[in-house]
Amino acid sequence: MTLQIPDYQPEADALAGRVVLVTGAGDGIGKAVSLAFARHGAQLILLGRTQSKLEQTYDELMAAGGRQPAIWPMDFASAQWPEFMAVGEGIANDFGRLDGMLHNAGVLGDRSPIEHYATKTWQKTLQVNLTAPFMLTRACLPLLKESADASVLFTSSGVGHRGRAYWGAYAVSKAGVENLAETLADETETNTAIRVNTINPGPVRTAMRAAAYPAEDRDSLRKPEDITTPYLFLLGPASKGISGQHFDIG
Ligand code: NDP
Repeated sequence: MTLQIPDYQPEADALAGRVVLVTGAGDGIGKAVSLAFARHGAQLILLGRTQSKLEQTYDELMAAGGRQPAIWPMDFASAQWPEFMAVGEGIANDFGRLDGMLHNAGVLGDRSPIEHYATKTWQKTLQVNLTAPFMLTRACLPLLKESADASVLFTSSGVGHRGRAYWGAYAVSKAGVENLAETLADETETNTAIRVNTINPGPVRTAMRAAAYPAEDRDSLRKPEDITTPYLFLLGPASKGISGQHFDIG
């Protein structure tokens, strides 16, 4: 079952005092949400594949008066466990805490039937969309456990709720992400202050959406900056106590 985000007006300082890691922070939804998090007081770690894109987010964030973020370039397609461990250790050294993670980075994979799906693309899509978020979360769990109010938010999709023809590894990875979130939510429910949920942003005007629907009228779609409030709700104190849930943005 999926839930809708309740009406919410974030306080200006909704994320003040929180250290939050955002993956895929250099483009699309991750960039817009990072800027919104910074406007609401978060100390950010911006992780993504392309350093120049992360630097662009950094510049815009600083120009808007946000707290100086950390930048962490990393390619989820090739990264191994020690690199994920290094993220957790680096955050511990530089900030001493972690209060939130937004797993947003993702790739579309091929739009093709299972019968013809390229096995290399399958493995890469599962690696970037599912295995990397697992490894990153695992590496950061010791820090998250120390937070008084930690939120882990994974990004799903409509095809994560139910598979659909020609969405292949992408749909399977998002279904896996939903199960990962449920499993971790169950494991952290009684003995930690960590909550774990998923968000499906719905159709949003980004490079990934354009690749999936090349003939679509882009002007009909919401822009990434139009959908940041639900992310503020789920990363901030307003959603305390909500865990193991799947949210769709209307
Ligand atoms: P974009 O393609 O605009 O952004 C994807 C982000 O993921 C980029 O910052 C990209 O970095 C990063 N990324 C891709 N591959 C890697 C990698 N190997 N290692 C590290 N980072 C990587 O997509 P969206 O903003 O649209 O998507 C954001 C999330 O929302 C995704 O999880 C997507 O599945 C989900 N979603 C999006 C929808 C939409 O309509 N847009 C609908 C439903 C879900 P770089 O740019 O440097 O490659």
